[in-house]
Amino acid sequence: MDPVSVPISLPDGSSPLWRYLFLAAFGVLVLARILFDFELIRAAFSDDGSAARTKTNCPLCGARIPVESNRCGYCDEPLER
Ligand SMILES: [Zn+2]
Repeated sequence: MDPVSVPISLPDGSSPLWRYLFLAAFGVLVLARILFDFELIRAAFSDDGSAARTKTNCPLCGARIPVESNRCGYCDEPLER
């Protein structure tokens, strides 16, 4: 078969470079989407966990106070850790 007889306007199926570029772009988009969803899920879970862990109840008055504080901000009760 004479290669010169091949038409210049190639159909999409005979252009593998465009297919590779399309697949690469599609793969990057899917990967970015998966990473984005994973970050959202992890942020939601870590928000709940840290909120539960960084706050505690004052043993005297029961107020919600940060774990890091040494004293209750409401009744000034010293906190033991
Ligand atoms: Zn208190």
